[in-house]
Amino acid sequence: MSSIPAATVGRLVTYLRVLTDMEQSGVRATSSDELGAVAHVSAFQVRKDLAYFGRFGTRGAGYTVATLRRELRRILGLTRPWHVAIMGMGRLGQALADYPNFDRSEFRLEAAFDVDPAVVGRRIGDLTVEPVSVLPSVVAERDIDLAFLTVPAGAAQAATDALVAAGIRGILSFAPVLVTAPDHVRVEPVDLSAGLQRLTYYVHGTPDTPSPSPG
Ligand code: NAD
Repeated sequence: MSSIPAATVGRLVTYLRVLTDMEQSGVRATSSDELGAVAHVSAFQVRKDLAYFGRFGTRGAGYTVATLRRELRRILGLTRPWHVAIMGMGRLGQALADYPNFDRSEFRLEAAFDVDPAVVGRRIGDLTVEPVSVLPSVVAERDIDLAFLTVPAGAAQAATDALVAAGIRGILSFAPVLVTAPDHVRVEPVDLSAGLQRLTYYVHGTPDTPSPSPG
């Protein structure tokens, strides 16, 4: 499974979103052409991404939306609820704790942690902020696998180490630094500046082709 390109996993999430919209609109069958067009990739790319996981659909007839959606949910591990913690309850942590859409997904916010005594004990959304000292016991008791990392850059590695030691297996990191974790723990960075830098590449007008070498 680790040989699957990360870009493919990212596109599976997009295909799932498209299939969910289709199902909600009453569409029952689709094709790699149609799926690719909505997901902004080629039909070949759709077929190649899905082929990593087996055979889906029928040549000529395409895919049954409900079946492919169910398979993608299984592949992505979305057939069970996931318990999530927030590490760092400043501005961003508090905004995530207040985000109402978690209630409608597979992800359940189960705990929030901070090192600041002024924040610990505060009620935010449905959570009461707890001290990092109880992280290992809370993670074990509430069966928490995933965490948002929302601490300042300078605290990010120490907070990651604490999450790993407590048994967290996946970290969505908002800290603008690269943190390291053992192989069995997956860290996914959410880097807003990197996103803006990708945007400026497209928006500022550099020609696609390299300029001819002088002389
Ligand atoms: P913040 O300073 O408001 O909050 C950080 C919180 O982390 C504080 O409550 C602090 O006490 C806590 N903390 C510090 N060390 C900790 C530790 N070891 N364990 C647990 N908690 C700890 O910061 P913020 O604005 O919420 O941003 C959080 C992170 O997200 C930063 O790395 C920031 O660069 C990044 N980020 C923020 C935004 C945003 O819009 N606020 C956007 C993108 C990325």
